[in-house]
Order: sequence, then structure tokens, then C-alpha cells
Amino acid sequence: MTAFSLKNGTLHAENVALASIAERFGTPCYVYSRAALEASLDEFLAELQGIDALVCYAVKANSNLGILNLFARRGAGFDIVSGGELQRALAAGADPQKIVFSGVGKTADEMRLALNTGILCFNVESAPELDRLNEVAGSIGKKASISLRVNPNVDAKTHPYISTGLKENKFGVAYEDALALYRHAAALPNIAISGIDCHIGSQLLDPAPFAEALDKILLLVDQLAAEGIQLHHIDLGGGLGIRYSDETAPTVKSYLGPLLAKLAGRKLKIVLEPGRRLVGNAGLLLTKVEYLKPGEVKNFAIVDAAMNDLARPALYDAWHDILPVAPHTGAEQSWEIVGPVCESGDFLGHGRSLALQPGDLLAIMSAGAYGMAMSSNYNTRPRAAEVLVDGNQVHLVRRRETVEQLLAQDAMLP
Ligand SMILES: *Cc1c(COP(=O)(O)O)cnc(C)c1O
Repeated sequence: MTAFSLKNGTLHAENVALASIAERFGTPCYVYSRAALEASLDEFLAELQGIDALVCYAVKANSNLGILNLFARRGAGFDIVSGGELQRALAAGADPQKIVFSGVGKTADEMRLALNTGILCFNVESAPELDRLNEVAGSIGKKASISLRVNPNVDAKTHPYISTGLKENKFGVAYEDALALYRHAAALPNIAISGIDCHIGSQLLDPAPFAEALDKILLLVDQLAAEGIQLHHIDLGGGLGIRYSDETAPTVKSYLGPLLAKLAGRKLKIVLEPGRRLVGNAGLLLTKVEYLKPGEVKNFAIVDAAMNDLARPALYDAWHDILPVAPHTGAEQSWEIVGPVCESGDFLGHGRSLALQPGDLLAIMSAGAYGMAMSSNYNTRPRAAEVLVDGNQVHLVRRRETVEQLLAQDAMLP
């Protein structure tokens, strides 16, 4: 599947020239491919055929309603981390019984909203959260279905900011404390124990830590069963990595194969929470070169997208391929691709070999995950437009913000 490719010498999203998108919708602009989004979901569904399993897309990776709706239509569920994401999922047509609620800081209001919606499961991340949930559920005459998010203490070998399965991380319940907390949960009147959950990190390129985590979780499942606490589902989280430059990302088959083998013969529904893997390579950020500023030490290409649009390079020193939309034949030079924001950390790529002219369009690749979702209005920059390409068609799935909208949120003293 070629979501983004050169056709007649210029970069296209499916059958649409990116230059025509820039002309019609302006830049910076996020461009997604419907075919790529569906192909990545299909990669999971193909491996799970005939198995009692649910793919809950992690909304935080990209929460655009157009994308959520595509996944909901294909039967996916959703992993949410806030009341806002719950409302997004519902607005996009999600089945409440396919929603799991993760996150370390669920408020009582968010719990009530989720209980009244009738979601599938709360992934509880601490003892006080469990007690609060029991209280909130009791106060509205509901029973809360829960998993405990257990921290299996495996090293996911990823960036420290996106590793979540180690003891020192803020997420989940310590492995050693899990049994006692399940016993406590079993005694709470408004809690129904449904499953167990773990999520060990993000952008994992080695499937081994997933299997290591599952072994540890299954040990707990058996210990719980021996005590009469029978679980109905096991949630293996998300975290499967994608190719950003020259990494080899595992196939979904090589990731799921060993896990499904370990789970064979057990009567456990399997829940997965992929985020990045479903959307990352299905999107790019289209930007225009405003100025070229060659220098003695470095050459700067100043583009109209910035760290407020795509934070990953500034935040994690992340690499995104940067491709010219209409490649020139001229000599290449090394360019710092930077935005207009007043921070030295505002870069999108360092030392990229490109033949550039002012006015050129560039495509920042692999920007579908944690791109728009992490964007901000820093420097009073309205957020970018988002379009979803489907064959020859371009659908605007989020209008570009206006400065008027931003100002309207503020107030002055009387
Ligand atoms: C972020 C997150 C995910 C998705 O992670 P990806 O690396 O994008 O797949 C899944 N589950 C939980 C609990 C998360 O916090």
C-alpha cells in the first residue's frame, strides 16, 4: 500500500498531489491517508480473526473525529485517558462497550461520566483510584468493571520519556502489590473485577519485551485463579513501533504471534491498545519554506510549521524524514529545518541534505501519531488544518484555527 508516493515527479497522498492540497487548504496542514489508516487496522484484524479479541485504538495518538469514526466503522474500540477523549470517542460513533479507560489521574467527574456511559472497563492504576472508583460507583448505583494496570517491570528499551513499564515510572501498580490489591478489589461492593492490563512503553521495535511482560502477567492470572479470582480479559496495551527512518519495525504478525501462542487454550478475551502503529505512518505534515538563511556554520531553512505543530523533534529529539514535494535537480546542501517559534529547540530536522528554494513545499513524514494531538497554540499560532485523503477525494477533517478563536477564550479586567 503506497499512501504517499511520487507520481509524475511530485509527491502525492493516494491520488492527490500534495501541492494541490497546499493550494486549497494552506500550510501547515496535516494530511492523512484513509487507505493507510485502514491497512494498519487490517494488519491487526487479520491476525486476530477467529479469536475473541478487541482492538482499542489509543485515542491520544491522534484524536481527530474523522479518524476515530473510520476506526469505529471498522469495529474498533477505543482506549481513552480523559473525559474529553471519552466524549470524542462517543461523538465519533464508538460503541461504549468497546471503550477502556486508562490514565493515572481519573477525576470523580470523569468516573461518573464513564460509568453512566457504560464503558467496558476502567484500567485502574493505583489503590486510591480503586477506592475512589468504588465510592463514585456506589454513589450513583453502578458497579464499575475494572482491570488493574500492573507494572511488569520489564525494560522496553525505548526513549525514557515513552518507557512506562519500569518500577520508576508513575504508571500502574507495582507487580509485587498486584495480588493484594486484587484481593482488596474483590471485597469492594461496587467493583467487578474483569481483567488485567499492562502497557510497557511506546515505539518498541523488539517484540521480546511484550512476551516477557505477558509471561509475568500470566503468572499473576494463575495466582488469582488459585484464589478464586477469575479474570475475563487480558489487555496487553499498545506500544508497537513504526519505521521513522531506517529502523526495521516488527510486523504485527511477529509481534502478536508469540503472544497469541502463549494465550492459546486460555479463556481470556484479548484487548490491545495500539496507537502510534495505527496512525503514525498514515499521516504527514505539509509545510512551506518561508526563508533560506545560509550561514557560516549552519544553513537554516525556515518553514511555516513549528514545534507547536509537531513537538516530537523538540521534545524527544525524534527523527522525521523530510521530503521535497517537488524535488529539484539542483545541488543539495545541508539544512537545519526550523520553524518560526522563538525557541532554539524549535526544529523539525537537523542537517538534512536537500536542494531548496524559498516557497518549496516539504513533507514531514510519519507525523500521523502524536503530531496534531500534541500541538499547542504557543506563540499564538492557530493550529493547522487536517485533511483526510480517500483516493481522488480530499476531505477537510479539521478547519485551520483562527486567531479570533484563540482570542475569544481570553478576557480582560473590567
Ligand atoms: C499511550 C498509550 C497507548 C498507546 O501507545 P502507542 O505507543 O501509541 O501504541 C496504549 N495504552 C496506554 C495506557 C497508553 O498510555
